[in-house]
Amino acid sequence: MDNLKEYSNDEIVELIKSGKVGAADLTDSGICPTCFDRENNNVLYGDSSSRMIYEDELFECFLVGNPRAEGHAAISTKKHFKDMMEIDDETCKEIFLKAKKLMNLIKETYGSESVYLCTMCDGPMNHFHIQLIPRYSFEKRGSKNFVKDRFEYKEDKEKLLILRNKMKN
Ligand SMILES: [Zn+2]
Repeated sequence: MDNLKEYSNDEIVELIKSGKVGAADLTDSGICPTCFDRENNNVLYGDSSSRMIYEDELFECFLVGNPRAEGHAAISTKKHFKDMMEIDDETCKEIFLKAKKLMNLIKETYGSESVYLCTMCDGPMNHFHIQLIPRYSFEKRGSKNFVKDRFEYKEDKEKLLILRNKMKN
């Protein structure tokens, strides 16, 4: 794949729709996949509103579309930051307070034994986000929980509503 920056916005959209280009290709070309997705009708990741837990003018918290565990969630800033090293102190404080709150809610709602937190955002371009991955009692403790097999998201409306209600209070 050539550098996608040589293509127009519409051409990139068509390449994504045809399955020839994915998030990693945008990242490799120095284009933020998250911002591109937002500016182009969610062409890359699809509409996440049915998985949204909490949203305000600065942040969004949502259940991920290809989770590694039931209750696997992510929190990201609306504003573009490449990774955690770029964020200002106030954003850092706010997003970690949100993460703490959501970790407790996931643990309580899904009955996990613990919730792991990670942020990577590697490569030429990415969009800062934090991942929260539950670890259940039937799973062994340890870093392997960060790379559990992904599966397709299945909606649990009841749990989602609990998370939504408690996250906004
Ligand atoms: Zn971005």
